[in-house]
Amino acid sequence: MPYTYTYRCGACRTVSKHPSRLDARSTQTDHIRAVHHGRRPEDDRITENPPQYPGYELLTAIVRSKPALTVALALAAVLGYRIYQTLFP
Ligand SMILES: [Zn+2]
Repeated sequence: MPYTYTYRCGACRTVSKHPSRLDARSTQTDHIRAVHHGRRPEDDRITENPPQYPGYELLTAIVRSKPALTVALALAAVLGYRIYQTLFP
């Protein structure tokens, strides 16, 4: 699932979501030109939104923590070996 991008204008509080950073940048440029007469408002920014699916927060927490990643990989290896032994005795 890809990242999405959000453009927020700090002056008029406009928010729009985009499938790519380039698309968000294009909207930002058009908005600044059309609404703010070419002057960039304060707190105007594009943010990157990570993909949302069940377990994403837990998965990223595990991957960012080296001890948790080591334990998770060790458990996966043990479980994988047990499944291998069960399927191919
Ligand atoms: Zn604005």
